[in-house]
Amino acid sequence: MRVTVLGAAASHAAGGQACAGHLVECCDTKVLFDCGNGSLANLYKVTDPLSVDAVFVTHNHPDHYVDLYSMQAMLRYAPSGPVTSMPLYMSEDLYDRMQGLLSDRGAVEFREAFALHPLAHGVSVEVGPLRVTPMLVDHTEPTYALVAECDGARLVYTSDTAPGRRASEAARGARLLLAEATLPERYAGASPHLTARQAGEMAREVGAERLVLVHVWPTNDREQMLSEASEAFGGPVSIAREFDTFEID
Ligand SMILES: [Zn+2]
Ligand SMILES: [Zn+2]
Repeated sequence: MRVTVLGAAASHAAGGQACAGHLVECCDTKVLFDCGNGSLANLYKVTDPLSVDAVFVTHNHPDHYVDLYSMQAMLRYAPSGPVTSMPLYMSEDLYDRMQGLLSDRGAVEFREAFALHPLAHGVSVEVGPLRVTPMLVDHTEPTYALVAECDGARLVYTSDTAPGRRASEAARGARLLLAEATLPERYAGASPHLTARQAGEMAREVGAERLVLVHVWPTNDREQMLSEASEAFGGPVSIAREFDTFEID
């Protein structure tokens, strides 16, 4: 299994960055974990976006889904003709709300472009050989961490979350833990997100082999983050940048 970071920025992207988006590949199957602002343009740089098999959206914050609107146009007006029914795994509430911003015709086209598959806590879905299990975490309700398994490889993407039992349960057994690390240490607990140190503590608690920090506030001190996460984890840590690729076997 392989994950390519399309967007590593939290909430807004600074120059050259993008918000939450991850291309997860296993064998010939490709899925997106989140589709935040800027991630579709970056997807173009690494693969044909029409070759994506399914899209997963973890929660209803714009930095995780707004590029679905761009993807809708890309699918509808593909040179080879309209592409319909792209499987879209997300909450039904967000699927409905996204259409509320569109014209009546746009909403019809949205439903034609994307076939909704509502996420449910602990209920695995299979896309080709890839098994994805959504797990509720503590952020806005509902927010799902995503556990991806394929050929014995196990990747966990925390999505946005506060530290705690639910996030740790989702992360347990991850070979590679893709953990959000939004907050500088001095803001720990100020909002339902992790600091780099908390991400490191979680990685150690759940026995992850490798920690990759994503969803990083653009003005954060990355060196400081790296040293705090490394100290807490005691294993290999990376702070993701756009187009970083990680292999998980
Ligand atoms: Zn976010
Ligand atoms: Zn969020």
